[in-house]
Amino acid sequence: MAQQRVVLTFQRWQLDQPITYRLVKDFDLVTNILQAKVTPDEGRMSLELSGLEQNIEQGIKWLKEQQVIVYPLATGLSVEKDSCVDCGACTAVCPTGALEFDKDWTLNYEEDRCILCLACVPACPVRAIQERE
Ligand code: SF4
Ligand code: SF4
Repeated sequence: MAQQRVVLTFQRWQLDQPITYRLVKDFDLVTNILQAKVTPDEGRMSLELSGLEQNIEQGIKWLKEQQVIVYPLATGLSVEKDSCVDCGACTAVCPTGALEFDKDWTLNYEEDRCILCLACVPACPVRAIQERE
């Protein structure tokens, strides 16, 4: 049994398509949604796929044929503390408390608490947080 974590980005017209259902039914994959977010313009979903390696490959190929944008999910974050201006934007959007200030206003990143939702990456005005692959 193989596993792969991916980020899928859908256009607005694709939002009502039964994408995960098709992955389960047509490619015999187990899908675990790690995070999903829908805006008026697009949807973004972090997904863990489990199944036979060739089925995962075929499933991803099929997603791309449906014009879904597929990226590997980051393995972690790199937080550049020298660039940080302590604005708090990342801590405000972090759903798990993985990014928090301590008592002396130093930003801490607790990797164990991070679910890689990536909400903090676009929130940072100085691009101090980047995905690690
Ligand atoms: S990726 Fe998500 S969970 Fe992880 S630190 Fe950023 S906002 Fe928090
Ligand atoms: S959003 Fe960026 S600059 Fe602001 S506290 Fe977080 S890492 Fe620092």
